Amino acid sequence: MMLDTETSVPLGVDWPELREAVARICIRYPGEYWRRLEDEQAYPTQFIEDLTQAGFLAALIPEAYGGGGLPLRAAAVILETINRHGCTASQGHAQMYIMGTLLRHGSEAQKREILPRIASGECRLQAFGVTEPTTGSDTTKLKTRAVREGNHYVVTGQKVWTSRALHSDLMLLLARTTPAEQCQKRTDGLSVFLVDIRESRGHGLTIQPLQAMFNHNTTEVFFDGLKVPAKNLIGEEGKGFGYILDGLNAERTLVASEAVGDGRFFIDAAVRYANERMVFNRSIGSNQGVQFPLARAYAELEAADMMARRAAALFDAAKPCGSDANLAKLLASEACWHAAEAALQTHGGFAFSREYDIERKWRECRVYQVAPVSTNLILSHVAQHVLGLERSY
Ligand SMILES: Cc1cc2nc3c(=O)[nH]c(=O)nc-3n(C[C@H](O)[C@H](O)[C@H](O)COP(=O)(O)OP(=O)(O)OC[C@H]3O[C@@H](n4cnc5c(N)ncnc54)[C@H](O)[C@@H]3O)c2cc1C
Repeated sequence: MMLDTETSVPLGVDWPELREAVARICIRYPGEYWRRLEDEQAYPTQFIEDLTQAGFLAALIPEAYGGGGLPLRAAAVILETINRHGCTASQGHAQMYIMGTLLRHGSEAQKREILPRIASGECRLQAFGVTEPTTGSDTTKLKTRAVREGNHYVVTGQKVWTSRALHSDLMLLLARTTPAEQCQKRTDGLSVFLVDIRESRGHGLTIQPLQAMFNHNTTEVFFDGLKVPAKNLIGEEGKGFGYILDGLNAERTLVASEAVGDGRFFIDAAVRYANERMVFNRSIGSNQGVQFPLARAYAELEAADMMARRAAALFDAAKPCGSDANLAKLLASEACWHAAEAALQTHGGFAFSREYDIERKWRECRVYQVAPVSTNLILSHVAQHVLGLERSY
């Protein structure tokens, strides 16, 4: 690794102390821990608790509300470091960006009540209910209804892929408050609520685990006349779609850095293995056929990281960054996948042995090309909003 001679910090590595502090927690949670969780379909409660107590998951909460008051780039570095060390950032990442909706659009009373409790770990805001069985990419078609009745909204409908709902105290919910046919624009009439999961289960809220390709603790959530206090509405009724959109740039930038972290995990593991594994009396890493896919994936990861940094820098400067955040997510998800494939091939048969953690991470990282937004939808965004082509859907 090249060093900056003035500071002895590896070139291109920002927030070195933060990376080191996060890594100190991660090394206490080796592959064995994550494999056991998969066997038990369990949540990494202790790992998330350690990150919370160290203040890492509250990095983006302003100091005035008990958080770290750090820029988005610092949060990205935290998530990247977690994944680079073989841990799984997605088990706790949502808290970082979900709370942004509350921070930007919640009332002062809501922020004073909730943000300090999230920062201290007393309350978990890890669940985000947008996707429904018949509505993924086309969010405005969602069917879950919230109807005002006195001091409450009565919620009926269903969400799917609501990750971590069984390990969160609060859920940010997007529901339709005005039927689409009564709205001027299809993006109108959607509202955001904070649902108290603890109080609501058994009173109109049912949560069922959803078995997935990897251990993501994701769920299906059913609303059957759930009463949500009107004071839990965030911002103005009917403006929820815009509030959620506001949070997407942070989400995409952070997910891009998670993908970069996973990609670096694969490169580190593959290089180690390629140097050690002897075949035909020489290390497999001395073959160009093994080197080149790793070198190419490394180059792609560096480029994706630069794009993620640009998105974060623009976000932190309060500049428009929608296209940059989308591009960062697109490039990082693909670079990470190429690193995953190269690492799998480098490990040969042992890639399929669970103890190397390559197959676990390989399964985990495929999701970046699908969620939180799929590659095609990003390409459509670029085609329309950057290149000026006609809207294709
Ligand atoms: C592990 C996991 C965790 C998740 N966690 C959450 C969560 O916590 N909360 C939440 O709300 N959601 C969550 N999701 C849902 C995720 O956001 C959606 O899966 C994603 O938005 C895609 O929606 P969809 O699956 O309905 O795909 P669809 O919208 O049905 O699309 C299917 C495919 O068709 C393509 N496609 C659709 N329309 C077009 C078009 N016009 N042009 C070209 N291609 C098109 C898409 O790119 C995609 O490849 C999660 C998903 C997964 C897999």
